[in-house]
Amino acid sequence: MTKPASEMQKTIWDNPSDIIRSRAPDHPVMAFSPLALEATARRFLDGFPGQVTYAVKSNPDPSIIRVLYKTGVTGFDVASPAEIDLIGQIAPAAARHYHNPVRASAEIAHAAKAGIRAWSVDSQSELAKIIARVPPDGVEISPRFKLPVSGAIYDFGSKFGAPPELAVTLLQEVAARGFTPSLTFHPGTQCTDPAAWESYIRTAGDIATQAGITPARLNVGGGFPSHRVTGAAPDLEAIFALIARVTRETFGASAPALVCEPGRGLCADAFSLITRVKALRDGQTIFLNDGVYGGLSELPIVGNLDRIEVLDPKGQPRRGEPLSRTIFGPTCDSVDRLPGELDLPEDLKDGDYVIFHGAGAYSTATNTRFNGFGEMEHLTVRALG
Ligand SMILES: *Cc1c(COP(=O)(O)O)cnc(C)c1O
Repeated sequence: MTKPASEMQKTIWDNPSDIIRSRAPDHPVMAFSPLALEATARRFLDGFPGQVTYAVKSNPDPSIIRVLYKTGVTGFDVASPAEIDLIGQIAPAAARHYHNPVRASAEIAHAAKAGIRAWSVDSQSELAKIIARVPPDGVEISPRFKLPVSGAIYDFGSKFGAPPELAVTLLQEVAARGFTPSLTFHPGTQCTDPAAWESYIRTAGDIATQAGITPARLNVGGGFPSHRVTGAAPDLEAIFALIARVTRETFGASAPALVCEPGRGLCADAFSLITRVKALRDGQTIFLNDGVYGGLSELPIVGNLDRIEVLDPKGQPRRGEPLSRTIFGPTCDSVDRLPGELDLPEDLKDGDYVIFHGAGAYSTATNTRFNGFGEMEHLTVRALG
């Protein structure tokens, strides 16, 4: 079918339905709303009681970095030389916090040369590697500590973070060597319970007291939730208020400056993933053209995204009664399946579109070409609904 010239030149669509009507895509499409991203960024910038930085790994698309930078995000949490260079190019005046606590010597050298001035560590051996290669003047090192998990959907503590006793020693060593001592933690991801931050901030206070050192800054990590399940969106402002209150109660007049490094909380809700029903096998199970090796890779770990809409090929919503279905992705691997079952309209047909709202985090970045699938197109929309 030949498309009119106006459609060929289109660079921005009204919404996912417009994309379906005008392009009838057979591959997954990630629809991005810069306006939605800007609105979320403003919520963080207005509400968080400190500096907002963006955890680049959650979605490193340059168009996101540009919108955040333009909206006033002044820092980025980077974890690799490639992320360091990406931010250096797109957001040259922004701070880059190199908060991957384990680095090869060559990565440290790359970062030092790129002018990185904020590092985190969770071990003595990794601290020694930085001390040997980076002069201390005006450089911040933040011991990263961990607690037994609570409130997070995913246990980051099993990989990174020093127990509080070790964080005390690291903080003292950082200060003794002439670096700026700060503290950091990451409570996990999609923390819907604000209590996750409370125990960490109080422990930061204990670490500072035991070390006899007032940290210059306290980075409260990422973990801010996005809107993954139907119903009310998470109350970010309640989390911001809790962080401000507990920091005040814990540190009083010598409170460190606060920093946060949301990934998902900033980017996820600015994207909707448009997938297509490849087959409704014998009227029972659904095969989509995307799955756990593509844009839905997180679902088996973090749980289903259930803010779903089903549109017919004309872009009109299916309105049938909800029916629980098993959903498979396109590859021939049997783990390529969404967890449990999802409720979808009973009048869903082969060739319909299934839209997952809030799909911007840990999706485009981890999309693979396994089994020859994973051709994902990125298009810009004015609105997601
Ligand atoms: C992944 C990560 C983040 C971002 O986590 P979200 O749950 O996406 O907010 C922040 N800080 C560190 C150190 C991380 O590893």
